[in-house]
Amino acid sequence: MAIQDIYPTALRLLGRPVLVVGAGPVAARRAKGLLNAGARVTVVAPVASAALRELSDAGLLTWEPRTYQSSDVDGVWFVQTATGLPEVDTQVAADAEAQRIWCVNASDHESSAAWTPAVAVVDDVQIAVNAGGDPRRAMALRDAVATALDTGDLPLRRRRVQVSDFDELNHRGSVALVGGGPGDSGLITVRGRRLLGQADVVVTDRLGPRELLKELAPDVQVIEVGKTPGHHPVPQHQINRILVEKALEGNRVVRLKGGDPYVLGRGGEEAEYCRQNGVEVEVVAGVTSAISVPAAAGIPVTHRGLAKGFSVVTGHEELSEVPARADHTVVLLMGVGQLRESAAALAAAGLPQGTPVGIVENGYLPDQRVTIGTLGSIADQAEAVGVANPAVIVIGDVVRVSPFAPPHFKTTDYSTTTPNKSQTRVSTP
Ligand code: SAH
Repeated sequence: MAIQDIYPTALRLLGRPVLVVGAGPVAARRAKGLLNAGARVTVVAPVASAALRELSDAGLLTWEPRTYQSSDVDGVWFVQTATGLPEVDTQVAADAEAQRIWCVNASDHESSAAWTPAVAVVDDVQIAVNAGGDPRRAMALRDAVATALDTGDLPLRRRRVQVSDFDELNHRGSVALVGGGPGDSGLITVRGRRLLGQADVVVTDRLGPRELLKELAPDVQVIEVGKTPGHHPVPQHQINRILVEKALEGNRVVRLKGGDPYVLGRGGEEAEYCRQNGVEVEVVAGVTSAISVPAAAGIPVTHRGLAKGFSVVTGHEELSEVPARADHTVVLLMGVGQLRESAAALAAAGLPQGTPVGIVENGYLPDQRVTIGTLGSIADQAEAVGVANPAVIVIGDVVRVSPFAPPHFKTTDYSTTTPNKSQTRVSTP
């Protein structure tokens, strides 16, 4: 049968009697589908599979343990036959046909009056695929579409619906604090991407996957709250208010943040404010720049033999609290302005001047730049080349692993664990 001879439609079977003939795996699957749609299902089959028996025992359907008889189709709206016996299925289909009842015949796809598509449900969207009578092909296509909806590659976003069409729950807006990762559009989570695709309003920082903003539908409102050249950042209390206001208007709000929302990103405050104001919040973790931006320069924050742990801090005040040892990696965020003070603070705490330091500006972005030096030299180097935010500063022996490190930093002996040892092996530039 040619695909153009099929008329796609969807049946509302809620409360309507339907008949399933047969009780094997196919019949059980179809019976479940019909039950999900709210139909009143009667199954006729001399023996039932465990799956069907369970449904029957639970009182969800009626199982008639006997062979099929023509009068079984009387008064039903829809018939599924899947007995595994072509002659019985043919009889059922003929009886249904005689009464003008739509029937799906599992044993004869070609002559079947109706087809059951491969189906996936994502949120309140149902995808049904008929693929020229090839069920596996239909399933493969269905899966691909469902995945693309899941990941936000397809526009799952609701178009505005009249308020009267909404039930109370759907009408209430929500806020998702989405960690966008360090900037590359491939480094947001699948969940984050999907929520972004469904958003009515996006409240965004300067850092994060900005390319994805270009893919938003034209009627999505984008509110910039980060510091852009020539624009001051919107104060935090105002960001909080925007989130709540937009959500209370019924919007799905995505607060798109750089990195992870909970790492030096004030995500906790935003979530708290929303909840205090009766707005539902979901927090979607992100790839933090603290770990990923060093990786963009080939620097692992821990490395067997070089560092067992790391601290993430913003500047020199907290540096008195972290272990001042080359085998404990220190990651500084927002640290460019205070680099000289931070380096001095670590040196004062006992970290050798020769400890390697890496600075990665604009990690994962086209203008990424890596500067490598030592605790003693880095502030001058940074000044000389004009290092600017956003940048992640990494201090510790792990910097040696970077392919950007000068040859004399490289070591095949990763046994260095004490500051003194590392000091003797590093020759400063
Ligand atoms: N919540 C974020 C951090 C926000 S603080 C996270 O988890 O990543 C902002 C700082 O993050 C910047 O000053 C810079 O130190 C760092 N940063 C974020 N993205 C960066 C990038 N692509 N390249 C370099 N540094 C980045």
